[in-house]
Amino acid sequence: MTHNQLHQPHQLYIAGRWRDAHSGRMETVFNPATEAALAEIAVGAAQDVDDAVAAAATAQAAWGKSSGLERAACLRAIARGVQEQQEQLARLQTANNGKPLSESLIDIGDVVATFDYYAELAEQLDTHQDQPVTLPSVDFTATLRREPCGVAALIVPWNFPMVTTAWKVAPALAAGCTVVLKPSEITPLPELALAAIIDRAGLPAGVFNLVTGSGAEVGAALVSHPAVRKVSFTGSTAVGQTVMKAAADDLKRVSLELGGKSAALMFADADIEQALDIVCGGIFFNAGQMCSATSRLLIERSIAEDFTARLKQRVESIKVGDPMDPATQMGPLSSRQQYQKVQQYIQQGLDAGLKLITGGGRLPTMSKGYFLAPTIFTDVPFDSPLWREEIFGPVLCINTFDSEQGAIEIANQSEYGLVATVLTSDHERACRVSAALDVGLVWVNSPQVIFPQTSWGGMKKSSIGRELGPWGLHAFQEIKHVVMAAFE
Ligand code: NAD
Repeated sequence: MTHNQLHQPHQLYIAGRWRDAHSGRMETVFNPATEAALAEIAVGAAQDVDDAVAAAATAQAAWGKSSGLERAACLRAIARGVQEQQEQLARLQTANNGKPLSESLIDIGDVVATFDYYAELAEQLDTHQDQPVTLPSVDFTATLRREPCGVAALIVPWNFPMVTTAWKVAPALAAGCTVVLKPSEITPLPELALAAIIDRAGLPAGVFNLVTGSGAEVGAALVSHPAVRKVSFTGSTAVGQTVMKAAADDLKRVSLELGGKSAALMFADADIEQALDIVCGGIFFNAGQMCSATSRLLIERSIAEDFTARLKQRVESIKVGDPMDPATQMGPLSSRQQYQKVQQYIQQGLDAGLKLITGGGRLPTMSKGYFLAPTIFTDVPFDSPLWREEIFGPVLCINTFDSEQGAIEIANQSEYGLVATVLTSDHERACRVSAALDVGLVWVNSPQVIFPQTSWGGMKKSSIGRELGPWGLHAFQEIKHVVMAAFE
């Protein structure tokens, strides 16, 4: 294999080598733009999870004691490996997930930045270890140590496959945890390619393991495995609740990144052109399959009619089609299952007589693939499932507001609390509203840019804990204080 060829294994990666699943079973993975089969992937099960966890547990002692500098070198090697193959990885991700190539390239940039960022934090770990604590007594000294949690199970969804994986693998390895990764059964190809890169990055055997397979078998076996000490899960709120219950038996440490139903608040003083871009990006990027989708748009009443008309025009110009075409702005939904689920929501809206502004179903120009037209409903009742539930597709629901306080109250009326977008030219208002929103991240007049230095996660049913930043690293560390009586 030459340097630039993408290695695309379809097996399990356990204890530093590729091997078949015990079952010998394989499952087909599809291209959602063409509905064609892409690859056959090994179907792992509980016995494979046992092997992977055993490999991780064996590797844990030495990896946990390795220096931050050694671990950082591996993370940097992974970052360079991903960077060198970014074009091939982006094409693979687009083939498997359906997002436009331009979006896949953004994802790969995010993956590289995440591994580099946690390499930087790992490089600082050795000097930060055993930090003295200031005590109100001269008779004692105290120091703070941060130690790895132990074997970590990492479970990810299909909407940002490599990104959600990098947000877990990079801090886990930096902290000194060994890991078993379970990718989504819908989009395992990008993670398999990433695992091939990790295989070449110089990690000791057993530090990183990957088991493909279903959530019901592989995911459940991982979460309930007694040797797993930490579970980091990204996915739906319903499965997150199951994961948390299963992890409770052994009191495993749990981080959950779950669903959202986020709001964009559009004030009359906002820059209209900029707002159109931000609102469209907030719901039609990745065909709306984003936990952070701002799927509820609140517009100040005085501009609602005009802004909605301009939004309709803008949305109808979005180029939906072949995600490999560089001109494409929106691809298909990532799976038949998701495509059908979103269609059901749209139908429910139509049946309820909701006011459809644009879209409303399958894109008539595409004969194959899971393509839906970008869809907007307005004046959606607050008790409608379309307003309350995470649709996870290109469906925007609009309502109006009369006052700043009213907008905040509507935005906060959700069981979720992941993110929000505030559009206003008034800085004081931006600060007031940001402070009042019950979410983990607010973007003001900004597209959904994510920096590894700022946290990711939310309030209420959207998350437990935070990813990225030092919080992402701490999620894989235990805290230990050593208090000593003064030596004679
Ligand atoms: P999902 O919950 O169905 O699956 C997520 C992962 O969990 C998959 O790998 C799946 O195989 C596994 N799984 C399923 N059942 C399991 C079980 N019983 N035990 C352990 N693992 C199990 O979610 P999905 O459909 O893949 O992804 C979409 C969801 O992910 C949306 O709700 C979205 O909001 C959420 N998401 C959240 C974030 C975030 O950062 N908050 C990011 C991306 C996606």
